[in-house]
Amino acid sequence: MNVYDSHKMADVMATVGYSLTDDYINADMVILNTCHIREKASEKIYSELGRIRQEKMRLETIENRKMTIAVAGCVAQAEGEEIMARAPFVDIVVGSQAYHQLPELLAKADRAANRAIALDFTPQEKFDALPHSSQNPGASAFLTVQEGCDKFCTFCVVPYTRGAEYSRSFAEIIDEAKRLADSGAVEITLLGQNVNAYHGDGKTLADLIHTIAELPQIQRIRYMTSHPRDMQDDLIEAHGNCAKLMPFLHLPIQSGSNNVLKMMNRKHDAAFYLDIISRLRQARPDLAFSSDFIVGFPGETEAEFEETLELVKQVNYSQCYSFKYSPRPGTPGAVMDDSVPEEMKVERLARLQELLFAQQLAFNQKSVGKIMPVLFDRKGKHEGQLLGKTEYMQSVHLTSAPEFFGAIAPVVITGAQQNGLSGEIIQNNMVRAA
Ligand code: SAH
Ligand code: SF4
Repeated sequence: MNVYDSHKMADVMATVGYSLTDDYINADMVILNTCHIREKASEKIYSELGRIRQEKMRLETIENRKMTIAVAGCVAQAEGEEIMARAPFVDIVVGSQAYHQLPELLAKADRAANRAIALDFTPQEKFDALPHSSQNPGASAFLTVQEGCDKFCTFCVVPYTRGAEYSRSFAEIIDEAKRLADSGAVEITLLGQNVNAYHGDGKTLADLIHTIAELPQIQRIRYMTSHPRDMQDDLIEAHGNCAKLMPFLHLPIQSGSNNVLKMMNRKHDAAFYLDIISRLRQARPDLAFSSDFIVGFPGETEAEFEETLELVKQVNYSQCYSFKYSPRPGTPGAVMDDSVPEEMKVERLARLQELLFAQQLAFNQKSVGKIMPVLFDRKGKHEGQLLGKTEYMQSVHLTSAPEFFGAIAPVVITGAQQNGLSGEIIQNNMVRAA
């Protein structure tokens, strides 16, 4: 979602004559878009800001040019005043629901040699005010359909930084999808903090998926992140009856222990989750799953942690994200006793990851020898290198066929690693050019 938001900020700034640059050290304006989800992500911003400040000072003293520094995103939303106090060289602080105001904030900061801050919660106003994008979205595009969250898991800052659940209008989303398709997108990933809670104009996420699937240019549809409680019947069925909906689903559970799930206020138990997984597999037998896990939540015992390992074995994931619990200011978790010692969190994370990585490698190894359609949506670091994704979200590297950039091509998979696959293009015709 931060990538999507960053593109939207670039669209907003384009209306006042700014364009994107790779050369930030000579930029007129640097916007640091931030993440508040874990402490590590949050802490990084001050070291980043320190680096940007040096370039600002160099430009101002040696070249007599101004560099405006803005901090955007969820850290700005949560700690805006603190950033202003701790980093006096920051000109603008703009929260995640206020970035449509960037041009005004810039004018205000310029006018009075002043500083500007905007932390309002107005998602509707934001989406109404955002201009249509003039950027090329690339072959794989993001589209935010829903923002915010009303679930209040006890570890999570999202309900405080992104605000209450908000669904965009159905027609507006379909318009944006059409524009993305017309400008070259082959894949659309529908985004939301709680994307399957989407309920714009009385429609569901499944309705959005079926309508977008009618766009001939769009070959692949994905969505994230979903909550197990919001996996409604029509969405489960869509995995069986919408061929463009990709056979990979990120469905986080966080823990396999019912007691920990209750302490996390996840609003369901492990059996509920496993039942959804099995219904999804009935709808689409080759569906691959990923999840997020948190180890060391306050009070988590060894036996409860082992229940997570058991659940992982039962589901058999194709890939996962896993984190040590990090207390976040303002959440109910932050006042619970952070009782699992750091060494134990480290040890549990290592044991969980050993299992997850083995499952990921085994999943990838099953692809060797198969012919898989791969969407090449990114260029690699080296000349001629392309990076792509299979339908199951596995990464594929290719060095030999740069002409496939932006297209889906059939690849014979020759090797598997934990993180991805290697392969070769087998025939010289594109399945679909962007
Ligand atoms: N809406 C999604 C999650 C969004 S946050 C859901 O309900 O699953 C992304 C992931 O960050 C979470 O799934 C969780 O695993 C992790 N996370 C969030 N807060 C955390 C915290 N305080 N400590 C450690 N990990 C956290
Ligand atoms: Fe955070 Fe997801 Fe829980 Fe909402 S559902 S509070 S975003 S973890």
